[in-house]
Amino acid sequence: MAAVAVIGAGFVGLSSAYWLMREGHQVSLYEPRGAAGGASFGNAGTFANYACIPVNNPSVFRDLPRYLFSSQSPLRVRWSHMHALAPWLTRFLWASTPVRYTATATALSNLLARAQSGYDAMLAEADLQRFVRPQECLYLYSSAAAFEGARQTLQLRRRLGVESEILDADAIAQLEPQLSPIFHRGALFKGSWHLSDPSAFLHGLLAYLQAKGLVVHPVAVTTVQANDRQVRVLGLNHESAYDYLAICAGVYSKALAAQCGDDLPLQAERGYHLMFPGSAPLIARPVGWAERGFYMTPMAHGIRVAGTVELAGLGEEMHPGLLDLLNFASHRALPGLGAPQSPWLGFRPTLPDGLPVLGRSRHSARVLYAFGHQHIGLTLGGLSGSVVADLVSGRAAALDLHAFRAQRFKYFNYERGGSASVIAP
Ligand SMILES: Cc1cc2nc3c(=O)[nH]c(=O)nc-3n(C[C@H](O)[C@H](O)[C@H](O)COP(=O)(O)OP(=O)(O)OC[C@H]3O[C@@H](n4cnc5c(N)ncnc54)[C@H](O)[C@@H]3O)c2cc1C
Repeated sequence: MAAVAVIGAGFVGLSSAYWLMREGHQVSLYEPRGAAGGASFGNAGTFANYACIPVNNPSVFRDLPRYLFSSQSPLRVRWSHMHALAPWLTRFLWASTPVRYTATATALSNLLARAQSGYDAMLAEADLQRFVRPQECLYLYSSAAAFEGARQTLQLRRRLGVESEILDADAIAQLEPQLSPIFHRGALFKGSWHLSDPSAFLHGLLAYLQAKGLVVHPVAVTTVQANDRQVRVLGLNHESAYDYLAICAGVYSKALAAQCGDDLPLQAERGYHLMFPGSAPLIARPVGWAERGFYMTPMAHGIRVAGTVELAGLGEEMHPGLLDLLNFASHRALPGLGAPQSPWLGFRPTLPDGLPVLGRSRHSARVLYAFGHQHIGLTLGGLSGSVVADLVSGRAAALDLHAFRAQRFKYFNYERGGSASVIAP
């Protein structure tokens, strides 16, 4: 059995630790912030097995002026960050043409079709089923035009095996009577579910793994040195050697992968959430408003309203306009919501083609990558962890990983010295 270091205690890193330990490997986890210290803390909590339509789709060409100039748009590009973003945006637009977007959607659907298998054993063995709420996700369109605009993507989802039921206004009202009667159509996605508390889920998983012998180093990794025989992992006052290393550091993986020979255009898609304590009984399931780009999810501590996309790097300052937009639009959808609390900002790790990186590094087969899960890292965390275990064990993964290799960017390395950095210790 191998000694394996895992960097990052989000959905991807802790799932990797779980699958590795299940096979008997000896795992050491590097994470200075504890479980769920990154994007995994504040997401919308949905297991979105239907989410094969990436943000890089042909509608961005139509909507780009709105993203740049409208204060109502749920996707914003910060002008002051444009110089750093331009190379990533160029690639993003390149990946948004119909042919490339269809290829991305197909590759994502291959992952999503297997996503449940990444969680089944974990939920049972680590006693995590208690966080799972089985009510399916409802996606809403507030006008006939919006629904028509989404028809093509709904058809593509269906072709790719996503099962959904289309609801009219009456059926939406029956399902979720507290919603404003402003919604024209809805899609209810089969087999989706949500978590009552994503952070508590990961703390539960970490406690289970520690009880099974997981070693935790509260250390920010600064340096990775890999060769054919071993991987050295260095941080402040710390140095250790392993047989393998799995880099699962979300958006911060960029700087670590660069040390292993892969200069990747990984960018932060900033997203926000607001909590509405005590309001959870208003809805029974996650409700997404398609045109406004957010979800309302009933969780243990109230409804979480989460979403929007801001392209503005890794600074910690929040955009008050996007928080106002979330607050305003969620009250428009669900008038019974009270006053918002606990605004939160998180960084979705996103490659411009919308696919994660799953595979080996260029310099050493002993360094494994699992990051870049954009809007669906909770959904794909379990499966990605099982892929990491496959790679360490030298087994063929359950699916073809070619589309997810880091080296797919080698002819297009625009982003030298880009925006992500190793987090401070
Ligand atoms: C508003 C919002 C809503 C979302 N909703 C959903 C949803 O409903 N469903 C879904 O599937 N996904 C959703 N997502 C996306 C999802 O949250 C992310 O894709 C996922 O959390 C990424 O997980 P991760 O483990 O890759 O990264 P992270 O959760 O960011 O974890 C990375 C960890 O690595 C650690 N780290 C970084 N650098 C180092 C270092 N040098 N040394 C040691 N440790 C390090 C960090 O501290 C961090 O804890 C949402 C995201 C946002 C922002």
